[in-house]
Amino acid sequence: MNAPVNIAVPSKAGRINLLGMDRPSLEAFFVALGEKPFRATQLLQWIHQRGVSNLDEMTNISKSLRTRLAETTEIRCPEVVLEQASDDGTRKWLLRVDSGNCIEAVFIPEQDRGTLCVSSQVGCALDCSFCSTAQQGFNRNLSVAEIIGQVWVANRALGRDARVPPEAGCRKRPLGKTPLEPMGGGRIITNVVMMGMGEPLLNFDNVVQAMSLMTEDFAYGLSKRRVTLSTAGVVPALDRLREVSDVSLAVSLHAPNDALRNELVPINKKYPIKELLASCLRYLEGKPHRRITFEYVMLDGVNDSPQQARELVHLLADIPSKINLIPFNPFPNTRYARSSDVAIDRFRDILVKSGFTTITRRTRGDDIDAACGQLAGKVLDRSKRKLRQIPVTVVAQ
Ligand code: SAH
Repeated sequence: MNAPVNIAVPSKAGRINLLGMDRPSLEAFFVALGEKPFRATQLLQWIHQRGVSNLDEMTNISKSLRTRLAETTEIRCPEVVLEQASDDGTRKWLLRVDSGNCIEAVFIPEQDRGTLCVSSQVGCALDCSFCSTAQQGFNRNLSVAEIIGQVWVANRALGRDARVPPEAGCRKRPLGKTPLEPMGGGRIITNVVMMGMGEPLLNFDNVVQAMSLMTEDFAYGLSKRRVTLSTAGVVPALDRLREVSDVSLAVSLHAPNDALRNELVPINKKYPIKELLASCLRYLEGKPHRRITFEYVMLDGVNDSPQQARELVHLLADIPSKINLIPFNPFPNTRYARSSDVAIDRFRDILVKSGFTTITRRTRGDDIDAACGQLAGKVLDRSKRKLRQIPVTVVAQ
């Protein structure tokens, strides 16, 4: 996989933020400074594995190099404005990324995994009718540092909490290999999903580079199967993705036909289902045993009938896939309601009987508005896009 090497872009203050540079970029940066490329791995380990943002603590990097780095670079992490914990263990961070904008990242602990949900944009331009992020409009793309910074912040906070406090007499016990691993082994963040605010494929280069830090051995070291990009279906970008990355793919389908999907996910008018599914199949080429996850939000009386379940079975028959049913998470002024448990179970049973692995996503963290589609952050809308009122087809059951 040949992701492009990013040329370090100085911030407004004229400094290069080392937090957002992946290994190839950092190696190129150090070579340009007349240094050996292995400095890149040292720096990655300090920043991402040990959560260190102060150059002075990086003791295996010479004092003179640290002084040079201090002159032209910075390690700037998103500022935590608010950290909330749900009764079910879900954690949410509100992070300030600039004077007017905040984003949110959410950690969802489960029995066998810990998933961090990461944002890719401030707001979203796609206007999906059932998503609260859409209501806020679009402001801008996040930088690589702002995307990976969400993992950095969560990793540090979770690692900090998982460690036994020194007063318990454990001061000398070794830390886990990385802050991702609490003492006694076992990672805390085992999976990252690009399912927060924004459409990741519309911030392509930055998202790809941030994901390469997630899977980088000297940074977060997650397997490509445990990093998932979720898209509403930007087909040309999806075709580009398979050239540079092989992370897991989730596709927000939400409807079994174009007429309904045009209303729920308006980008479908540009890239209809047939084109999207063809692109999904191309993504799986050369990746045996991999499957696409299709996400399907359960909207009462809109897309949850048995007939629509059968239509979905037919649609996905030839695609190695699994299906995640997401009970709709309401937000103020929405015109939708969540499907009943009976409707969701009936829908799921039809899919399962037809051989689809189907999971109903349990709603997590809704007491802190951390569930899918509830991530709000704070967005200064520059899109000037008026909220369009899209008529919704109500399908009789
Ligand atoms: N833009 C990307 C990722 C962001 S949303 C995408 O569309 O995939 C992550 C998932 O949450 C998507 O499947 C999205 O459709 C779903 N979602 C959005 N709003 C929701 C809501 N109110 N209730 C339940 N799921 C929602």
